[in-house]
Amino acid sequence: MSFSGPVVALAGGVGGAKLAVGLAHALPEGALTVVVNTADDLVLHGLHISPDIDTVMYNLAGMSNPETGWGIDGDRTSALDLLGRYGGPTWFRLGDQDLATHIRRTQRLAEGARLTEVTRELAASLGIKANILPMTDSSIATRVKTPEGELEFQDYFVARGTRPSVCGVRFQGADEARATPEVIRAFDEASAIVFCPSNPIVSIGPILAVPDIHERLRSASAPRVGVSPIIGGAALRGPAAEMLKSLGHEVSALGVARILKDVLDGFVVDTEDEALVSSIKETGLRSIALPSIMSDLDSKKKLAQGVLAFASSVQKMT
Ligand code: GDP
Ligand code: CA
Repeated sequence: MSFSGPVVALAGGVGGAKLAVGLAHALPEGALTVVVNTADDLVLHGLHISPDIDTVMYNLAGMSNPETGWGIDGDRTSALDLLGRYGGPTWFRLGDQDLATHIRRTQRLAEGARLTEVTRELAASLGIKANILPMTDSSIATRVKTPEGELEFQDYFVARGTRPSVCGVRFQGADEARATPEVIRAFDEASAIVFCPSNPIVSIGPILAVPDIHERLRSASAPRVGVSPIIGGAALRGPAAEMLKSLGHEVSALGVARILKDVLDGFVVDTEDEALVSSIKETGLRSIALPSIMSDLDSKKKLAQGVLAFASSVQKMT
């Protein structure tokens, strides 16, 4: 085992959660902190929903729906169906059990608890040993510029099924947002920082848009390594490839490495993209190729172990 000390992983939802599960298994209990994107958060039915936190939480608790990667396995939507009959919005799919998470979160926030505290309580109740931290307690909202106008993130992502082309992205509230003491401490204590294979624009992008976090990541002494969400020029799911293209980036692991270069020491590409390793090295990063398709627990653990070993080699050589 290359790392036993604290490791911080940065994650969005489905792609990020998969590697987070691998890391949680590869590290000693409690050694993993996952800093999660909150710029996708929304209020619906009067409830505060944090989709990426919930995805990471349900995956780490072993209760996520294996087909979608989000939501709770076996959950039904009876409550949502009735909400629909009352005239409420049903485009954002919320399961019956899932609703309990949003109800509890909303109640605790209304009582004055911070999102960081509420997340800790929810995760602990689900028996999760890893530390899940919202990237900030401040409110940040991703806004997507499209030919149809500027859209709220979930309107673009879920309601319109990522169909509009993306001409720009901004993170409303990011300039004023502050990193929490918990996030700062996690970065200060980290012996390695791992960028999960999350969407670089709308999952990692908002985390980097928090000025204190960007600053800490840029100056971190711990090795910083990322895993490409783009394999063979395509995303495994979601709009990352289309977004990269329409925003003028190369749609490849190299394109992602270039975006994240200032906050990385090393970048892991899939074995299918081994040919890109040398061009990634030319950007000044270290790079290796590993099998990175995480289809089951074993592939998640193996990738996590490979990423941690890579991080430790980066550390030794700097
Ligand atoms: P979201 O917030 O639910 O959209 O999820 P993320 O931003 O965390 O992850 C989306 C990205 O994960 C997509 O670009 C996918 O290509 C990537 N992804 C999903 N599964 C895998 C996997 O098994 N391996 C790798 N390397 N990337 C993956
Ligand atoms: Ca997300």
